[in-house]
Amino acid sequence: MDLYEHQARELFADYGIPVPEAEVVELAREARFAAERLGGRVVVKAQVKTGGRGKAGGVKLAIDPAAAELTARQILGMDIKGHTVRKVMLAQPVDIAAEFYVSYVLDRAAGTFVAIASAEGGMEIEEVAATRPEAVARIPIDREEGVTEAKAAEIAAAAKLPPDTVPVLQALWQVLVREDALLVEVNPLVRTANGLIVALDGKVTLDDNARFRQVRWGDTAEDPHTDPLEATAAAKGLNYVKLDGEVGIIGNGAGLVMSTLDVVAGCGARPANFLDIGGGASAQVMADGLSVILSDPDVKSVFVNVFGGITACDAVAEGIVQALESVRLTKPLVVRLDGNSAARGRAILTDRAHPLVDQVTTMDGAARQAAVLASAG
Ligand code: GDP
Ligand code: MN
Repeated sequence: MDLYEHQARELFADYGIPVPEAEVVELAREARFAAERLGGRVVVKAQVKTGGRGKAGGVKLAIDPAAAELTARQILGMDIKGHTVRKVMLAQPVDIAAEFYVSYVLDRAAGTFVAIASAEGGMEIEEVAATRPEAVARIPIDREEGVTEAKAAEIAAAAKLPPDTVPVLQALWQVLVREDALLVEVNPLVRTANGLIVALDGKVTLDDNARFRQVRWGDTAEDPHTDPLEATAAAKGLNYVKLDGEVGIIGNGAGLVMSTLDVVAGCGARPANFLDIGGGASAQVMADGLSVILSDPDVKSVFVNVFGGITACDAVAEGIVQALESVRLTKPLVVRLDGNSAARGRAILTDRAHPLVDQVTTMDGAARQAAVLASAG
């Protein structure tokens, strides 16, 4: 899980890394008062979990509290690479003399952590890394040894960072280790016109396997579900993702659902969603899944593709029959049951004889049928 910039900033401050004074607001009108408290001039920064906010117009200087309110109004609600801005951070502006890049990241291929640092940080760091890799130092870090003062000095020297970045390099490593992070990044780490070293932007990715220890964030670092159906599905514990096509898809197991998406697309139709009911395809899960999919107005047909394994097809069929009691079927349902107890499952659905339920025994055939029904509907 990624933290928001303002949360990363809070962590940095806790570990003694200098950061600008800042406040976070959700309403433009609050931005005016926050700016007043911060001294008038502020940088208004979109809080979204994606980089490149500066280039997208999500980082702007405001000269006074009135301008801060206007700028906040512009940035709030903005879409940055598919992320809607719901909060802005207002920070005391810094006069920048130089911009550096520093990060620690788990290098999975090498099975070690690595420090990545450059004296040419800022918004063009990707460009620098691509065109002049020699300007970006990569130093492996032994997790047990960590970043000692000597190691930090080695990193600084390799990246041509000034020696007074050493304490920041050490503190940043402590953030990674003690907060169970897989990545910590500061871009830019700046030299201010006054000669200080300050972290102007931060990214922290926490290790989800240590979620039980990361109680500090509660669900405040969680991305809000932008799609209301996704929020409903998440509340019911369903693994559901809204897509923009017209064939609703329910399957058991992520692998099967993904290949179902491909097969439906291969029939010239577009999947409306990804819904994995997993191994526990109970009647309740089936009813919840169907009701979520049927309340999507884009859906024209639904394809239930189940390969019976631990959950046998007859249990899934019972689930569908029971779901039909509680959910009013408004769109055609194509069911393909295969694997464990497929024959019994099919017989159960045949007995139910619902006019909108079709059974097709092959995955390809069922996908074609769902595609045809979607284009007819
Ligand atoms: P990002 O584009 O999402 O990485 O957002 P950043 O927080 O890194 O901001 C983008 C750029 O805005 C930085 O690289 C800086 O050049 C600039 N910037 C951010 N804060 C300040 C500031 O306080 N003063 C000045 N002069 N520039 C800033
Ligand atoms: Mn940045």
